[in-house]
Amino acid sequence: MSPPQRGITFATGSEWGAYAQREMSRWAKDGAVTPLAVRVLFAAMGQHDRNGHARFRSGELADVLGSIDVTTDEVRPARRDSVSDAIKAAKRLGYITDESTVRCLVLSRHVFQKSWGSSDPCAVHG
Ligand SMILES: [Zn+2]
Repeated sequence: MSPPQRGITFATGSEWGAYAQREMSRWAKDGAVTPLAVRVLFAAMGQHDRNGHARFRSGELADVLGSIDVTTDEVRPARRDSVSDAIKAAKRLGYITDESTVRCLVLSRHVFQKSWGSSDPCAVHG
């Protein structure tokens, strides 16, 4: 049995870079970013683990994709159908894989790999 692979190797040999997950999470919450499918992508990029799985508590993604009430400063969660439509659009655009759900957004290994960190099995996908 070979040792677990270290480092990052894209099958296409594509050049690659890195991003700050904290910034991706901030952009995911930015109501100025449209369409909502792009915010879904940012939410995944901001929260994924080494395996590309970004898990969310019940209702958490609706809060991330919600808006801020300017009078109360409180988060107004995105509507359930809006979240569902945005996830479908993100899948159609290839931002996330078809196995993605509201509880776990999954990035493809073609676009994301992480060489360190936990690789525990996903609680949603096993
Ligand atoms: Zn998962």
